[in-house]
Amino acid sequence: MRFTSAKLFLLEIPFAASFRHSRAERTSSASAVLRLEDGHGSVGYGEGLPRPYVTGETLETLRQAIVRHFWPAIAGLELPEAVVEDGREVLEKVSSFLTDPPGGFINPAARCATELAVLDTLLKSRGLSLGSLLTPVQGMVQYAGAISLENAEAAFRQARLLRLMGMTRAKVKIARTGYEDLIAAVRRGLGPGAVIGVDANGDFDETTALRMMEALAPLGVSFVEQPLPREDFSALRHLHARAPLPIAVDESLVTITDAEALVREKSCDIFNLRISKCGGLLRTLRIAELGRRSGLRLHFGCQVGETALLSAAGRHLAAHLGSLDHIEGSYGELLLREDLSEGNTRFGYGGLAPLLEGPGLGVMVREDVLNKYAVEIIDLVPP
Ligand SMILES: [Mg+2]
Repeated sequence: MRFTSAKLFLLEIPFAASFRHSRAERTSSASAVLRLEDGHGSVGYGEGLPRPYVTGETLETLRQAIVRHFWPAIAGLELPEAVVEDGREVLEKVSSFLTDPPGGFINPAARCATELAVLDTLLKSRGLSLGSLLTPVQGMVQYAGAISLENAEAAFRQARLLRLMGMTRAKVKIARTGYEDLIAAVRRGLGPGAVIGVDANGDFDETTALRMMEALAPLGVSFVEQPLPREDFSALRHLHARAPLPIAVDESLVTITDAEALVREKSCDIFNLRISKCGGLLRTLRIAELGRRSGLRLHFGCQVGETALLSAAGRHLAAHLGSLDHIEGSYGELLLREDLSEGNTRFGYGGLAPLLEGPGLGVMVREDVLNKYAVEIIDLVPP
């Protein structure tokens, strides 16, 4: 199989409501979709969300990485005819073509969009689901809610809405002030038995983070995600040694090298995986496997504003990994004004969502929506 046509869509999809955390406020998604055709009627799509405060990427660096590096790497590719004796082998094979660009800047979102588009096209050309590569170990995936950084009253309203949707888990965005009131409000909104974690998005230093964790532990908070800035590895190690709550790493965990360092330094309890952040399915899976081997717990997150494409990839990988403590994503039109999929891919009551069984990622893309929200469409020609 060879790709005969490729288009890169740079998208700006408005949100139904804005979403805020300590590093950014968003009112629309900034995402990119790569569309590939194989010349025999199969069309595949992949998505990546560049976030400067997570991986240093922007839409512009993503565009350059795909145009100059990843597209030339796959344009002339002969993909394996025989799929799928061994799903892992196919993932490894596709991934092996997507080496990092020279120069040390790794472009995980660009790589993720390319990997997903190749897999979606390949699997559709064989009429197979991504589930044939990532065998599910459970029949449903249960998502948690996410509460934007707001004052206590607004956080209470968000929590109450989640409760009405049957959700019993949520992660609350916090900043350096007001977090105790915020957690009390969310607890009132979600109910006494709810599981509540917090995400600081790196807003604290070692001293203030310890104080915050000591204040939140008696309030029944289950974990604290990314208390310190991404690069503060040694402060994180110190904090972890004294912390009264489990620490999840998110922005600090992008590459397998990050994962190895975090394990070696005993700096955390939980890995928060995200497919776009970690550079695609296989790299995310490898980080998950290292985490499990090292006795860490796993959370599965998303980038704010993911469309049905990354939601679907996340659903497959979460079902394949199984036993994840906390899963986010598949918010669909709860967050986006319009999603890219024909039909609904967002979760239902209680955060529950079924597996997607259609070919490829299992998403029928609405090309009209893709075109409507494209701020730029780049035709990629074979090099
Ligand atoms: Mg986070």
